[in-house]
Amino acid sequence: MGDDRLGLNAASETGELSPWAAGLAGRCPRCGRGSLFSGFLSVVPRCSVCGLDLSAQDSGDGPVAFIILLVGFAVVGAALVVEVAYAWPIWLHLVVWLPLGLLLSLALMRPLKATLIALQYRHRRDTLGGGA
Ligand SMILES: [Zn+2]
Repeated sequence: MGDDRLGLNAASETGELSPWAAGLAGRCPRCGRGSLFSGFLSVVPRCSVCGLDLSAQDSGDGPVAFIILLVGFAVVGAALVVEVAYAWPIWLHLVVWLPLGLLLSLALMRPLKATLIALQYRHRRDTLGGGA
């Protein structure tokens, strides 16, 4: 399975925590136990468990770009299928798809931001103060 000491079942063969598991759980990319967020999208400056300095992390617009692509494909694709199959009136499309797009975007924001930070930690540790 994995290394359950880390609280996640996704340690790699080298003993490192999977950035996907840490990201989707919103945990520290090094230890997998400390929470990565102090608010909805505010990243803690330092992991409360292992002390990893996260103050220099910068996921930029990366999470939003992925969310636009994923949610846009899902919502617009579903709207097109429904329109062709059922010919909904425009007001019903607006009532259904706009809130759905908003909710999906907000729901994906934290896991995608945490996953990108974890991937940056894995591949560019010099920018996150994680050492070699
Ligand atoms: Zn940590």
